Amino acid sequence: MTAEVSRPLIGRCALITGSTAGIGLKTAEALAEMGADIVLNGFGEPEVIATLRSHLSERFAVRVVHSDADVSRPHDVSELVGVAREHGRGRLDILINNAGYAFADSGIESFDPKIWDKQLALNLSGPFHAIRCALPGMRAHGWGRIVNVASVLGLVAVPNRVGYVATKHALVGLTKTVALETAGTSITCNAICPGLVNTERVLDGHRLQASESGASIDTVQARAMATRQPSGSYIESADVASVIAFLCGPHAQEVRGAIWTIDGGWSAR
Ligand code: NAD
Repeated sequence: MTAEVSRPLIGRCALITGSTAGIGLKTAEALAEMGADIVLNGFGEPEVIATLRSHLSERFAVRVVHSDADVSRPHDVSELVGVAREHGRGRLDILINNAGYAFADSGIESFDPKIWDKQLALNLSGPFHAIRCALPGMRAHGWGRIVNVASVLGLVAVPNRVGYVATKHALVGLTKTVALETAGTSITCNAICPGLVNTERVLDGHRLQASESGASIDTVQARAMATRQPSGSYIESADVASVIAFLCGPHAQEVRGAIWTIDGGWSAR
């Protein structure tokens, strides 16, 4: 197999927001494996992030940089895109809008307006500003891949999570609009909609529910699956990352405005 086939993203630069953990980190690994230079973004202990950087660059022979830009702040987002362009020696080819805030637990009357504002800022305005800032460079270089990490809750609703459901639905709309505005170019924009993924954040949430309710962790997880995810099991972060990587690869050139579910059958009900 030639390098071009096995590592089709050599020479490309990818920015993955929220990539110091969870789905974002697995996506950074998948894109690095395909040869892309990587811009990590997100929070964490400096030593841990330094280890992530060196691990990625040594394992996949790519250049890796990290920024702790807060994607809920428009000014930070435009600086982050600047950092990525510099890292990519003038080009940012791949933008994965992954950072998101899921927390919420009450009906709309008592839904905390601060959480609403934070979800709007991070889950929706962050991707808007990142795309707005990244697209001119992609157009100038004649190639680009944008993937927005939405959620199955961008397609169906559940009660008590109005900020998350509303912003993820809107992210789906943003995706389709950008896909139409870039149709006819070599830039694509798609969204993926995962169900329950086995990230530490989700597992911590289930551990907390178990300790608060006195139920076993197995019972909490079984309940979550029974009411939502027909497959009965968590989705692996690496599998979500593989779908994102496919959308960034050469065979996805005409995948435009796709809203790709990976939800164990949740949205098929
Ligand atoms: P996570 O909580 O495991 O990781 C979040 C990452 O984002 C971390 O690197 C964190 O430091 C970073 N981050 C948090 N706030 C940030 C900010 N303001 N600016 C920049 N970075 C920030 O998240 P995850 O579970 O992997 O979820 C990633 C995305 O996938 C989110 O958009 C989420 O809504 C979506 N999603 C997750 C699941 C799931 O079950 N985990 C399901 C559907 C959709």
